Amino acid sequence: MDNRTKFTLEEKDIPQAWYNIQADLPSPLPPVMSPQTGKPAGPADFAPLFPMSLIMQEVSQERYIEIPEPVRDVYKLWRPTTLFRAYRLEKMLQTPARIYYKFEGSSPAGSHKPNTAVAQAYYNKAEGTKRIATETGAGQWGSALSMACMFFGIELKVYMVKVSYNQKPYRRIMMETWGAKCVPSPSPDTKIGRDILAKDPDNNGSLGLAISEAVEDTVTTPNTKYSLGSVLNHVLMHQTVIGLESKKQMEMAGFYPDIIIGCIGGGSNFGGMAMPFVKDKIEKKNNPQIIAVEPASCPTVTKGPYAYDYGDEAGVAPIVKMYTLGHSFMPPPVHAGGLRYHGMSPIISHLVKLGLIEARAVPQLATFEAGVMFARSEGFVSAPETNHAIRVAIDEAIKCRESGQAKSILIAHSGHGHFDMAAYEQYLSGKLTDYEYPEDKVKEALASLPKISE
Ligand SMILES: *Cc1c(COP(=O)(O)O)cnc(C)c1O
Repeated sequence: MDNRTKFTLEEKDIPQAWYNIQADLPSPLPPVMSPQTGKPAGPADFAPLFPMSLIMQEVSQERYIEIPEPVRDVYKLWRPTTLFRAYRLEKMLQTPARIYYKFEGSSPAGSHKPNTAVAQAYYNKAEGTKRIATETGAGQWGSALSMACMFFGIELKVYMVKVSYNQKPYRRIMMETWGAKCVPSPSPDTKIGRDILAKDPDNNGSLGLAISEAVEDTVTTPNTKYSLGSVLNHVLMHQTVIGLESKKQMEMAGFYPDIIIGCIGGGSNFGGMAMPFVKDKIEKKNNPQIIAVEPASCPTVTKGPYAYDYGDEAGVAPIVKMYTLGHSFMPPPVHAGGLRYHGMSPIISHLVKLGLIEARAVPQLATFEAGVMFARSEGFVSAPETNHAIRVAIDEAIKCRESGQAKSILIAHSGHGHFDMAAYEQYLSGKLTDYEYPEDKVKEALASLPKISE
Protein backbone atom coordinates (compact mmCIF):
# COMPACT_ATOMS: atom_id res chain seq x y z
CA MET A 1 0.00 0.00 0.00
CA ASP A 2 1.02 3.57 -0.74
CA ASN A 3 0.75 6.26 1.94
CA ARG A 4 0.82 9.30 -0.31
CA THR A 5 -1.84 12.00 0.02
CA LYS A 6 -1.94 12.71 -3.71
CA PHE A 7 -1.87 10.23 -6.57
CA THR A 8 -0.84 12.14 -9.66
CA LEU A 9 -0.46 10.97 -13.23
CA GLU A 10 1.50 12.56 -16.06
CA GLU A 11 0.24 14.29 -19.18
CA LYS A 12 0.97 11.16 -21.21
CA ASP A 13 -1.42 9.24 -18.92
CA ILE A 14 -4.46 11.20 -20.08
CA PRO A 15 -6.56 8.42 -21.63
CA GLN A 16 -6.15 7.94 -25.41
CA ALA A 17 -9.76 6.78 -25.76
CA TRP A 18 -13.09 7.14 -24.00
CA TYR A 19 -14.83 4.00 -22.76
CA ASN A 20 -18.25 3.26 -24.29
CA ILE A 21 -20.21 0.99 -21.96
CA GLN A 22 -22.78 0.24 -24.69
CA ALA A 23 -20.29 -2.35 -26.00
CA ASP A 24 -20.52 -4.29 -22.74
CA LEU A 25 -24.12 -3.89 -21.53
CA PRO A 26 -25.73 -7.26 -20.73
CA SER A 27 -28.86 -6.02 -22.53
CA PRO A 28 -29.07 -3.08 -24.95
CA LEU A 29 -30.50 0.33 -24.10
CA PRO A 30 -34.19 0.74 -25.01
CA PRO A 31 -34.66 2.71 -28.26
CA VAL A 32 -35.02 6.50 -28.21
CA MET A 33 -38.35 7.77 -29.55
CA SER A 34 -39.04 10.78 -31.72
CA PRO A 35 -41.13 13.47 -29.98
CA GLN A 36 -43.02 14.01 -33.26
CA THR A 37 -44.00 10.43 -34.05
CA GLY A 38 -43.61 8.54 -30.78
CA LYS A 39 -41.76 5.88 -32.84
CA PRO A 40 -38.08 4.86 -32.64
CA ALA A 41 -35.84 7.70 -33.79
CA GLY A 42 -32.84 7.32 -36.09
CA PRO A 43 -29.70 9.43 -36.52
CA ALA A 44 -31.47 11.68 -39.07
CA ASP A 45 -34.00 12.75 -36.42
CA PHE A 46 -31.19 14.29 -34.38
CA ALA A 47 -29.31 15.96 -37.24
CA PRO A 48 -30.98 19.37 -36.67
CA LEU A 49 -29.69 19.35 -33.09
CA PHE A 50 -26.26 17.70 -33.04
CA PRO A 51 -23.27 17.22 -35.34
CA MET A 52 -23.28 13.76 -36.95
CA SER A 53 -20.08 12.64 -35.18
CA LEU A 54 -21.77 13.06 -31.79
CA ILE A 55 -24.96 11.36 -33.03
CA MET A 56 -22.85 8.39 -34.14
CA GLN A 57 -21.15 8.30 -30.73
CA GLU A 58 -24.60 8.33 -29.12
CA VAL A 59 -25.49 5.01 -30.76
CA SER A 60 -21.99 3.54 -31.13
CA GLN A 61 -21.32 -0.03 -29.99
CA GLU A 62 -17.50 0.40 -30.20
CA ARG A 63 -15.87 -0.26 -26.84
CA TYR A 64 -13.26 2.51 -27.11
CA ILE A 65 -13.49 5.75 -29.09
CA GLU A 66 -10.26 7.61 -29.67
CA ILE A 67 -9.97 11.08 -28.11
CA PRO A 68 -8.97 13.54 -30.88
CA GLU A 69 -5.57 15.15 -30.32
CA PRO A 70 -6.96 18.77 -30.18
CA VAL A 71 -9.28 17.63 -27.35
CA ARG A 72 -6.43 15.95 -25.46
CA ASP A 73 -4.42 19.14 -25.96
CA VAL A 74 -7.04 21.19 -24.13
CA TYR A 75 -7.43 18.44 -21.49
CA LYS A 76 -3.72 18.94 -20.73
CA LEU A 77 -4.54 22.29 -19.10
CA TRP A 78 -5.93 20.46 -16.05
CA ARG A 79 -5.81 16.71 -16.72
CA PRO A 80 -4.94 14.21 -15.42
CA THR A 81 -6.73 15.37 -12.28
CA THR A 82 -5.50 14.43 -8.85
CA LEU A 83 -6.79 11.56 -6.73
CA PHE A 84 -6.51 12.47 -3.04
CA ARG A 85 -6.51 10.28 0.03
CA ALA A 86 -8.72 12.04 2.60
CA TYR A 87 -6.54 11.32 5.64
CA ARG A 88 -7.88 14.29 7.59
CA LEU A 89 -11.52 13.42 6.96
CA GLU A 90 -10.82 9.80 7.99
CA LYS A 91 -9.28 11.10 11.20
CA MET A 92 -12.18 13.45 11.91
CA LEU A 93 -14.59 10.51 11.45
CA GLN A 94 -12.32 8.10 13.36
CA THR A 95 -13.01 5.54 10.69
CA PRO A 96 -10.85 2.62 9.63
CA ALA A 97 -12.13 3.21 6.07
CA ARG A 98 -9.76 4.60 3.44
CA ILE A 99 -11.46 7.52 1.70
CA TYR A 100 -10.25 8.72 -1.72
CA TYR A 101 -11.61 11.53 -3.86
CA LYS A 102 -11.02 12.22 -7.52
CA PHE A 103 -11.00 16.00 -7.73
CA GLU A 104 -12.53 17.52 -10.87
CA GLY A 105 -12.70 21.00 -9.33
CA SER A 106 -9.30 21.93 -10.77
CA SER A 107 -10.55 22.53 -14.31
CA PRO A 108 -10.70 26.22 -15.35
CA ALA A 109 -14.50 26.16 -15.04
CA GLY A 110 -14.34 24.41 -11.66
CA SER A 111 -16.10 21.12 -12.40
CA HIS A 112 -15.99 17.95 -14.49
CA LYS A 113 -18.16 19.52 -17.21
CA PRO A 114 -15.31 20.73 -19.47
CA ASN A 115 -14.45 17.04 -20.13
CA THR A 116 -17.44 16.86 -22.48
CA ALA A 117 -17.76 20.57 -23.32
CA VAL A 118 -14.34 20.57 -25.00
CA ALA A 119 -15.14 17.41 -26.95
CA GLN A 120 -18.52 18.74 -28.07
CA ALA A 121 -17.09 22.10 -29.15
CA TYR A 122 -14.37 20.28 -31.10
CA TYR A 123 -16.79 18.04 -33.05
CA ASN A 124 -19.10 20.97 -33.73
CA LYS A 125 -16.23 23.03 -35.08
CA ALA A 126 -15.08 20.14 -37.24
CA GLU A 127 -18.55 20.00 -38.85
CA GLY A 128 -18.85 23.74 -39.43
CA THR A 129 -21.14 24.81 -36.57
CA LYS A 130 -20.90 28.60 -36.08
CA ARG A 131 -23.15 28.98 -33.05
CA ILE A 132 -24.38 26.79 -30.17
CA ALA A 133 -27.44 27.22 -27.94
CA THR A 134 -27.59 25.50 -24.58
CA GLU A 135 -29.16 25.63 -21.14
CA THR A 136 -27.55 25.73 -17.74
CA GLY A 137 -28.84 25.06 -14.24
CA ALA A 138 -26.41 26.28 -11.60
CA GLY A 139 -24.21 27.77 -14.31
CA GLN A 140 -21.56 25.05 -14.29
CA TRP A 141 -22.44 23.71 -17.71
CA GLY A 142 -22.81 27.20 -19.18
CA SER A 143 -19.35 28.15 -17.90
CA ALA A 144 -17.75 24.94 -19.14
CA LEU A 145 -19.23 25.30 -22.63
CA SER A 146 -18.38 29.02 -22.74
CA MET A 147 -14.75 28.15 -22.16
CA ALA A 148 -14.84 25.29 -24.69
CA CYS A 149 -16.51 27.45 -27.37
CA MET A 150 -13.88 30.13 -26.74
CA PHE A 151 -11.10 27.59 -27.45
CA PHE A 152 -12.67 26.51 -30.74
CA GLY A 153 -14.08 29.88 -31.92
CA ILE A 154 -17.83 29.17 -31.68
CA GLU A 155 -20.50 31.69 -30.63
CA LEU A 156 -22.59 30.59 -27.60
CA LYS A 157 -26.02 31.50 -26.19
CA VAL A 158 -26.88 30.15 -22.73
CA TYR A 159 -30.39 29.91 -21.23
CA MET A 160 -29.82 29.90 -17.47
CA VAL A 161 -32.53 28.67 -15.07
CA LYS A 162 -33.84 31.87 -13.49
CA VAL A 163 -33.53 30.81 -9.84
CA SER A 164 -29.79 30.20 -10.37
CA TYR A 165 -29.35 33.28 -12.57
CA ASN A 166 -30.50 35.32 -9.57
CA GLN A 167 -28.67 33.24 -6.92
CA LYS A 168 -25.36 33.08 -8.83
CA PRO A 169 -24.59 36.24 -10.81
CA TYR A 170 -20.87 35.42 -10.85
CA ARG A 171 -21.42 32.33 -12.99
CA ARG A 172 -23.04 34.56 -15.62
CA ILE A 173 -20.12 36.98 -15.49
CA MET A 174 -17.71 34.08 -15.90
CA MET A 175 -19.58 32.98 -19.05
CA GLU A 176 -19.49 36.53 -20.38
CA THR A 177 -15.76 36.74 -19.65
CA TRP A 178 -15.25 33.77 -21.96
CA GLY A 179 -17.41 35.55 -24.55
CA ALA A 180 -20.83 33.86 -24.26
CA LYS A 181 -24.27 35.47 -24.04
CA CYS A 182 -26.42 34.40 -21.06
CA VAL A 183 -30.12 35.11 -20.40
CA PRO A 184 -32.45 33.99 -17.55
CA SER A 185 -34.90 31.22 -18.47
CA PRO A 186 -37.83 31.52 -19.02
CA SER A 187 -36.73 34.29 -21.40
CA PRO A 188 -38.59 36.51 -23.85
CA ASP A 189 -36.20 35.26 -26.59
CA THR A 190 -38.22 32.13 -27.44
CA LYS A 191 -41.90 31.37 -27.98
CA ILE A 192 -41.87 28.76 -25.21
CA GLY A 193 -40.34 31.30 -22.83
CA ARG A 194 -42.78 34.05 -23.79
CA ASP A 195 -45.77 31.70 -23.32
CA ILE A 196 -44.65 30.73 -19.83
CA LEU A 197 -43.89 34.34 -18.85
CA ALA A 198 -47.32 35.47 -20.03
CA LYS A 199 -48.98 32.91 -17.74
CA ASP A 200 -46.55 33.15 -14.84
CA PRO A 201 -44.17 36.15 -14.85
CA ASP A 202 -42.46 34.95 -11.62
CA ASN A 203 -41.71 31.45 -12.92
CA ASN A 204 -38.39 30.30 -11.39
CA GLY A 205 -37.53 28.14 -14.37
CA SER A 206 -36.29 24.57 -14.49
CA LEU A 207 -33.67 22.66 -16.43
CA GLY A 208 -36.40 21.01 -18.51
CA LEU A 209 -37.79 24.41 -19.51
CA ALA A 210 -34.36 25.88 -20.31
CA ILE A 211 -33.68 22.85 -22.53
CA SER A 212 -36.92 23.58 -24.43
CA GLU A 213 -35.78 27.16 -25.00
CA ALA A 214 -32.32 26.14 -26.21
CA VAL A 215 -33.80 23.50 -28.54
CA GLU A 216 -36.26 26.03 -29.99
CA ASP A 217 -33.43 28.54 -30.49
CA THR A 218 -31.38 25.86 -32.27
CA VAL A 219 -34.04 24.81 -34.76
CA THR A 220 -35.04 28.41 -35.54
CA THR A 221 -31.52 29.91 -35.97
CA PRO A 222 -29.26 29.12 -38.96
CA ASN A 223 -25.86 27.43 -38.43
CA THR A 224 -26.79 26.70 -34.81
CA LYS A 225 -26.52 23.42 -32.98
CA TYR A 226 -27.65 22.38 -29.53
CA SER A 227 -25.44 21.00 -26.81
CA LEU A 228 -26.37 19.14 -23.65
CA GLY A 229 -24.07 18.90 -20.61
CA SER A 230 -25.37 15.63 -19.18
CA VAL A 231 -27.87 12.77 -19.64
CA LEU A 232 -26.88 11.66 -23.18
CA ASN A 233 -24.75 8.59 -23.90
CA HIS A 234 -21.96 10.54 -25.60
CA VAL A 235 -21.74 12.95 -22.67
CA LEU A 236 -21.36 10.13 -20.16
CA MET A 237 -18.76 8.54 -22.43
CA HIS A 238 -16.67 11.73 -22.57
CA GLN A 239 -16.68 11.76 -18.78
CA THR A 240 -15.09 8.31 -18.56
CA VAL A 241 -11.69 10.03 -18.44
CA ILE A 242 -12.56 10.41 -14.73
CA GLY A 243 -13.02 6.70 -14.09
CA LEU A 244 -10.20 5.57 -16.40
CA GLU A 245 -7.70 7.81 -14.61
CA SER A 246 -9.10 6.86 -11.20
CA LYS A 247 -8.58 3.18 -11.92
CA LYS A 248 -4.87 3.74 -12.53
CA GLN A 249 -4.61 5.94 -9.46
CA MET A 250 -6.36 3.40 -7.21
CA GLU A 251 -3.87 0.84 -8.52
CA MET A 252 -1.07 3.19 -7.44
CA ALA A 253 -2.72 3.43 -4.02
CA GLY A 254 -2.82 -0.35 -3.86
CA PHE A 255 -6.56 -0.80 -3.35
CA TYR A 256 -9.54 -1.59 -5.52
CA PRO A 257 -12.48 0.56 -4.28
CA ASP A 258 -15.12 -1.33 -2.28
CA ILE A 259 -17.59 1.54 -2.59
CA ILE A 260 -17.79 4.15 -5.36
CA ILE A 261 -19.98 7.20 -4.79
CA GLY A 262 -21.06 10.12 -6.95
CA CYS A 263 -23.90 12.61 -7.16
CA ILE A 264 -26.41 12.45 -10.01
CA GLY A 265 -28.16 15.35 -11.74
CA GLY A 266 -28.29 13.92 -15.23
CA GLY A 267 -25.72 11.28 -14.33
CA SER A 268 -22.58 12.37 -16.19
CA ASN A 269 -19.87 12.77 -13.54
CA PHE A 270 -21.11 9.72 -11.67
CA GLY A 271 -21.40 7.75 -14.91
CA GLY A 272 -17.93 8.84 -16.01
CA MET A 273 -16.46 7.61 -12.76
CA ALA A 274 -18.58 4.49 -12.42
CA MET A 275 -18.70 2.96 -15.90
CA PRO A 276 -15.09 1.72 -16.13
CA PHE A 277 -15.73 -0.03 -12.78
CA VAL A 278 -19.14 -1.31 -13.90
CA LYS A 279 -17.21 -3.00 -16.73
CA ASP A 280 -15.33 -5.01 -14.07
CA LYS A 281 -18.66 -5.91 -12.47
CA ILE A 282 -20.14 -7.09 -15.77
CA GLU A 283 -17.01 -9.16 -16.41
CA LYS A 284 -17.20 -10.48 -12.83
CA LYS A 285 -13.61 -9.35 -12.17
CA ASN A 286 -14.66 -7.31 -9.16
CA ASN A 287 -17.82 -6.41 -7.32
CA PRO A 288 -17.73 -2.86 -5.94
CA GLN A 289 -20.84 -1.28 -4.46
CA ILE A 290 -21.64 1.72 -6.67
CA ILE A 291 -23.95 4.38 -5.23
CA ALA A 292 -25.56 7.30 -7.08
CA VAL A 293 -26.76 10.07 -4.79
CA GLU A 294 -29.65 12.45 -5.52
CA PRO A 295 -31.54 15.14 -3.58
CA ALA A 296 -34.48 13.95 -1.46
CA SER A 297 -36.49 16.86 -2.92
CA CYS A 298 -35.89 15.68 -6.51
CA PRO A 299 -35.66 11.89 -6.03
CA THR A 300 -35.79 10.80 -9.66
CA VAL A 301 -34.29 7.33 -9.33
CA THR A 302 -35.38 6.43 -5.78
CA LYS A 303 -39.03 7.52 -6.24
CA GLY A 304 -39.76 7.89 -9.94
CA PRO A 305 -41.00 5.14 -12.30
CA TYR A 306 -38.77 3.75 -15.10
CA ALA A 307 -40.77 5.03 -18.05
CA TYR A 308 -40.63 6.80 -21.40
CA ASP A 309 -40.63 10.58 -20.97
CA TYR A 310 -39.55 13.72 -22.76
CA GLY A 311 -36.12 15.08 -22.00
CA ASP A 312 -37.51 18.59 -21.65
CA GLU A 313 -40.46 20.48 -20.24
CA ALA A 314 -42.23 21.42 -23.47
CA GLY A 315 -41.96 18.01 -25.14
CA VAL A 316 -39.74 19.01 -28.07
CA ALA A 317 -36.71 16.94 -27.01
CA PRO A 318 -36.47 13.18 -27.71
CA ILE A 319 -38.45 10.71 -25.60
CA VAL A 320 -36.20 8.33 -23.68
CA LYS A 321 -36.73 5.49 -21.24
CA MET A 322 -35.46 6.64 -17.87
CA TYR A 323 -36.32 7.16 -14.25
CA THR A 324 -38.44 10.31 -14.25
CA LEU A 325 -40.61 12.49 -12.06
CA GLY A 326 -42.50 13.72 -15.14
CA HIS A 327 -41.25 16.33 -17.62
CA SER A 328 -43.55 19.03 -16.24
CA PHE A 329 -42.23 18.57 -12.69
CA MET A 330 -40.60 21.74 -11.27
CA PRO A 331 -38.12 20.67 -8.58
CA PRO A 332 -37.93 22.82 -5.43
CA PRO A 333 -35.16 25.48 -5.59
CA VAL A 334 -32.44 23.54 -3.73
CA HIS A 335 -28.94 24.98 -3.98
CA ALA A 336 -27.64 21.96 -5.84
CA GLY A 337 -28.99 23.44 -9.08
CA GLY A 338 -27.14 20.83 -11.13
CA LEU A 339 -29.28 18.10 -9.54
CA ARG A 340 -32.64 19.74 -10.32
CA TYR A 341 -33.65 17.66 -13.34
CA HIS A 342 -36.85 15.64 -13.72
CA GLY A 343 -35.18 12.71 -15.50
CA MET A 344 -31.99 10.66 -15.45
CA SER A 345 -29.50 9.48 -18.03
CA PRO A 346 -30.84 6.40 -19.88
CA ILE A 347 -27.53 4.61 -19.21
CA ILE A 348 -27.68 5.25 -15.45
CA SER A 349 -31.37 4.28 -15.42
CA HIS A 350 -30.57 1.04 -17.27
CA LEU A 351 -27.68 0.20 -14.92
CA VAL A 352 -29.95 0.71 -11.89
CA LYS A 353 -32.60 -1.50 -13.49
CA LEU A 354 -29.95 -4.18 -14.12
CA GLY A 355 -28.88 -4.00 -10.46
CA LEU A 356 -25.32 -2.99 -11.34
CA ILE A 357 -25.57 0.28 -9.41
CA GLU A 358 -27.87 1.60 -6.70
CA ALA A 359 -29.35 4.99 -5.79
CA ARG A 360 -29.83 6.86 -2.54
CA ALA A 361 -31.56 10.20 -1.75
CA VAL A 362 -30.32 12.68 0.86
CA PRO A 363 -31.90 15.89 2.22
CA GLN A 364 -30.26 19.29 1.64
CA LEU A 365 -29.23 20.12 5.23
CA ALA A 366 -27.39 16.83 5.63
CA THR A 367 -25.43 17.53 2.44
CA PHE A 368 -24.24 20.93 3.67
CA GLU A 369 -23.33 19.43 7.04
CA ALA A 370 -21.15 16.98 5.10
CA GLY A 371 -19.70 19.74 2.91
CA VAL A 372 -18.67 21.76 5.95
CA MET A 373 -17.09 18.68 7.57
CA PHE A 374 -15.17 18.12 4.35
CA ALA A 375 -14.00 21.76 4.21
CA ARG A 376 -12.96 21.62 7.88
CA SER A 377 -10.91 18.47 7.35
CA GLU A 378 -9.72 18.37 3.73
CA GLY A 379 -9.80 22.13 3.12
CA PHE A 380 -11.66 22.12 -0.20
CA VAL A 381 -15.03 23.86 -0.27
CA SER A 382 -17.16 21.66 -2.50
CA ALA A 383 -20.11 22.36 -4.78
CA PRO A 384 -23.55 21.71 -3.23
CA GLU A 385 -23.99 18.91 -5.79
CA THR A 386 -20.75 17.26 -4.74
CA ASN A 387 -21.81 17.49 -1.08
CA HIS A 388 -24.44 14.84 -1.86
CA ALA A 389 -21.68 12.36 -2.68
CA ILE A 390 -19.61 13.43 0.32
CA ARG A 391 -22.65 12.91 2.59
CA VAL A 392 -23.03 9.29 1.59
CA ALA A 393 -19.26 8.70 1.75
CA ILE A 394 -19.30 9.98 5.33
CA ASP A 395 -22.31 7.77 6.15
CA GLU A 396 -20.49 4.74 4.75
CA ALA A 397 -17.27 5.64 6.59
CA ILE A 398 -19.24 5.88 9.84
CA LYS A 399 -20.71 2.42 9.15
CA CYS A 400 -17.13 1.19 8.78
CA ARG A 401 -16.29 2.68 12.16
CA GLU A 402 -19.23 0.82 13.70
CA SER A 403 -18.45 -2.48 12.01
CA GLY A 404 -14.66 -2.15 12.20
CA GLN A 405 -14.31 -2.76 8.45
CA ALA A 406 -11.50 -0.97 6.59
CA LYS A 407 -13.24 -0.47 3.26
CA SER A 408 -11.85 1.68 0.45
CA ILE A 409 -14.30 4.41 -0.50
CA LEU A 410 -13.88 6.35 -3.74
CA ILE A 411 -15.73 9.65 -4.18
CA ALA A 412 -16.31 11.32 -7.53
CA HIS A 413 -15.65 14.90 -6.44
CA SER A 414 -17.40 16.83 -9.20
CA GLY A 415 -16.40 20.42 -8.42
CA HIS A 416 -15.57 23.27 -6.10
CA GLY A 417 -18.18 25.49 -4.46
CA HIS A 418 -16.56 28.90 -4.84
CA PHE A 419 -19.66 30.34 -6.49
CA ASP A 420 -21.95 28.89 -3.85
CA MET A 421 -21.03 31.08 -0.90
CA ALA A 422 -24.60 32.38 -0.58
CA ALA A 423 -25.76 28.80 0.00
CA TYR A 424 -23.00 28.16 2.54
CA GLU A 425 -23.87 31.41 4.28
CA GLN A 426 -27.50 30.34 4.59
CA TYR A 427 -26.40 27.02 6.03
CA LEU A 428 -23.90 28.56 8.45
CA SER A 429 -26.43 31.12 9.69
CA GLY A 430 -29.07 28.44 10.26
CA LYS A 431 -31.39 29.70 7.53
CA LEU A 432 -31.11 26.77 5.15
CA THR A 433 -34.10 24.40 5.18
CA ASP A 434 -34.99 20.98 3.85
CA TYR A 435 -37.70 20.64 1.23
CA GLU A 436 -40.31 17.95 1.60
CA TYR A 437 -40.60 15.55 -1.32
CA PRO A 438 -43.40 17.20 -3.33
CA GLU A 439 -45.41 14.01 -3.78
CA ASP A 440 -48.60 15.60 -5.12
CA LYS A 441 -46.74 17.61 -7.75
CA VAL A 442 -44.91 14.50 -8.90
CA LYS A 443 -48.21 12.61 -9.18
CA GLU A 444 -49.59 15.43 -11.27
CA ALA A 445 -46.51 15.51 -13.51
CA LEU A 446 -46.49 11.72 -13.95
CA ALA A 447 -50.05 11.87 -15.25
CA SER A 448 -48.72 13.56 -18.41
CA LEU A 449 -46.09 11.01 -19.46
CA PRO A 450 -46.19 10.37 -23.21
CA LYS A 451 -47.99 7.18 -24.24
CA ILE A 452 -45.42 4.96 -25.92
CA SER A 453 -46.16 1.42 -27.07
CA GLU A 454 -43.16 -0.84 -26.48
C1 LIG B 1 -23.58 19.74 -13.23
C2 LIG B 1 -22.96 19.25 -12.01
C3 LIG B 1 -23.38 18.05 -11.40
C4 LIG B 1 -24.53 17.23 -11.92
O1 LIG B 1 -24.43 16.82 -13.24
P1 LIG B 1 -24.11 15.32 -13.64
O2 LIG B 1 -24.30 15.30 -15.10
O3 LIG B 1 -25.07 14.44 -12.92
O4 LIG B 1 -22.71 15.06 -13.25
C5 LIG B 1 -22.71 17.62 -10.29
N1 LIG B 1 -21.70 18.32 -9.75
C6 LIG B 1 -21.27 19.48 -10.29
C7 LIG B 1 -20.16 20.22 -9.63
C8 LIG B 1 -21.89 19.98 -11.43
O5 LIG B 1 -21.47 21.12 -11.97
